[in-house]
Amino acid sequence: MNRARCLVLNAALGPLDYRVPAGLDVPLGAVVACPLGPREVLGIVWEADRLPGAEVPEAKLRPLSGVLPVPPLKASLRRLIEWTADYYCAPLAAVARMTLASGGALRGPATMTEYRLSGGLPERMTPQREHAIAALEGEQATIRELAAIAGVSEGVLRGLVNQGVLEPVVVDCDRPYPPADPDHAAPHLSPDQHAVAARLVEAVGAGEFAPFLLDGVTGSGKTETYFEPVAAALRAGRQVLVLLPEIALTENFLRRFADRFGAPPVVWHSSLKSTERRRAWRAIAGGGAQVVVGARSALFLPYADLGLIVVDEAHEVSFKQDDGVRYNARDVAVMRARFESVPVILASATPALESLQMAESGTYEKLDLPARFGGATLPDIALIDLTQERPERGRWLAPSLVAAMGERLARGEQVLLFLNRRGYAPLTLCRNCGYRFQCPNCSAWLVEHRFSRRLACHHCGHETPPPATCPECGEPDCLVACGPGVERIADEVAELFPDARQALVTSDTLGAPDRAAEFVAAAEAGAVDVIIGTQLVTKGFHFPELTLVGVVDADLGLEGGDLRAAERTYQQIAQVAGRAGRGTKPGAVLIQTRHPDAPVIAALAAGDRDAFYAAETEARRHAGAPPFGRWAAIIVSSEDEAEARDAARAIGGARPELPDVAILGPAPAPLSLLRGRYRYRLLVNARRSEPLQDIIRQWLGALHLPASVRVSIDIDPYNFV
Ligand code: ADP
Ligand code: ZN
Repeated sequence: MNRARCLVLNAALGPLDYRVPAGLDVPLGAVVACPLGPREVLGIVWEADRLPGAEVPEAKLRPLSGVLPVPPLKASLRRLIEWTADYYCAPLAAVARMTLASGGALRGPATMTEYRLSGGLPERMTPQREHAIAALEGEQATIRELAAIAGVSEGVLRGLVNQGVLEPVVVDCDRPYPPADPDHAAPHLSPDQHAVAARLVEAVGAGEFAPFLLDGVTGSGKTETYFEPVAAALRAGRQVLVLLPEIALTENFLRRFADRFGAPPVVWHSSLKSTERRRAWRAIAGGGAQVVVGARSALFLPYADLGLIVVDEAHEVSFKQDDGVRYNARDVAVMRARFESVPVILASATPALESLQMAESGTYEKLDLPARFGGATLPDIALIDLTQERPERGRWLAPSLVAAMGERLARGEQVLLFLNRRGYAPLTLCRNCGYRFQCPNCSAWLVEHRFSRRLACHHCGHETPPPATCPECGEPDCLVACGPGVERIADEVAELFPDARQALVTSDTLGAPDRAAEFVAAAEAGAVDVIIGTQLVTKGFHFPELTLVGVVDADLGLEGGDLRAAERTYQQIAQVAGRAGRGTKPGAVLIQTRHPDAPVIAALAAGDRDAFYAAETEARRHAGAPPFGRWAAIIVSSEDEAEARDAARAIGGARPELPDVAILGPAPAPLSLLRGRYRYRLLVNARRSEPLQDIIRQWLGALHLPASVRVSIDIDPYNFV
């Protein structure tokens, strides 16, 4: 081949052809440097017949600049990239970029310099130097990392380097990870667990595409069970990918994994340092990373030899990405397993209706763990009807919930209060003139965060300190907080139970993995009495002393822009309820609601999952909603309101008239201003049999809109904000 077609990683460009210089080996999938004008861009060599481009005559081709020192992307990954771009109506380049997600790794092997104490002492000892030397005992890291560890400036450490007190050590950036041992500490499985594990191990051995829905109640030991097929893949020398919905959960998982396999897995998420990222990427591509645990972005990495994929808490909405390429990692995971010819396990106690439907139709094989491990029982669930039993004025916890908390705390047990709202209060207004604090960039209220003394927008990150006077009428000390957030509940608990030790668990307090580890350690050690948290506390955690869960506002999830609001509410509350009574002491759950008769709330109270799913299935069937019909959202935005509206109208005006496709809108989006852009939406609802993506591509492709208008397509959308 003396000509190579390249997918260049720039969404504005089509595929480009290059000449392959003599002597350069350029296999399909090779990552190459492509000259483009005076610059160079990254490209991936692709099958020319799968990537139609303009035929440029041989004589006009420019030569490739070189091949990067990384393994070529395998055909299975190229097919996944194509499928994802096609299904989600995204540029191929944007999808491909997710596989090459470490600039450093692409430059090949590298070393870096770390420092450690040499044992020598400085000529002149200062208090800072003394402190640093004591703090750095046994540490080896870069100067910047050591400065953070010791809590001194980098300058202090450079001084110690000059004096020979810290000595340089050259390390390989890509040093191997400690090996996981499949036989390190195999648990004794219950008969149910064993049966499920055996089936999964068999599937790993078969080495074929096989999708499983692992449906096990909370506390049934799904993790222990799917660790067995993980062990089987390790024994076979193949790689495993485990997708988790939140980084905050990873810490807990890492420890369990290390207990079982004797070494931690390789971690992948968006807040890795660039050195960790390149090391992980190269180990993944080179095959040295045996088990990778990651957020959704780990899905597109170039695994050398994938043998199994696990999607844990597979019902979680955080697997859906809502910017850039709008994909659902759960669904793409199944496609990746198909292209790689390996099994994929979707594990959940509250599977998505779509997943259950796939199991029912026989597309997925369903494996059940119907009972909690070790004889623990599922908790008792009761409702508190807030229309009958009102909390005191200015309070949010009903008397019977407060009484139940008092009983548990007196017995030394733990209580968990769940409210899916960060901050102190969702709305702040002026008592004098009624002025409401709104984000300047978004059509959203500013949320008061009292602990960090700021008003914050949860959509764009805009922040401002609470003003001393009302910006509208100038009245001093006039701000009133409306409604509760978790911080306000924490205040209420502190007043009610001044001796109870609290932990507030939200993305504000637990964003970083080490903070999450601290919380878990404290809760396990019994150093926490009341946990107050957002959806972050609903899943994954296992605290045996936790015996009471209070749901502060079960109706909250039923408002707002979630297209699957009832299902989401069911899942969240069932999951948080699943935190109660996981040890030997039985658990109880109290759910505060203003709508005890709403089908989802009644089903939760009755513990009747099947009834809920049956009712929800019928409602979806009736509405032509997923999984019975398909949705796509089209979001039109511009910094200019009139331009956004006109573009949305032009799109609406050109809508195709098709018998099995309904198109709603355009209408201003519920979040009609977001990050300074005005937004309009259309919702497309089609029969399953309709080629939804082709219809949308044809429809939008024929329009010419101003360059300042952005049109995003959201296939299988989750939210409607
Ligand atoms: P799930 O994810 O299904 O809610 P977990 O995997 O968290 O459940 O398991 C619940 C608890 O039971 C965990 O502490 C786990 O370590 C323990 N467990 C489950 N199965 C076993 C087993 N076979 N042997 C020992 N401990 C187990
Ligand atoms: Zn905002």
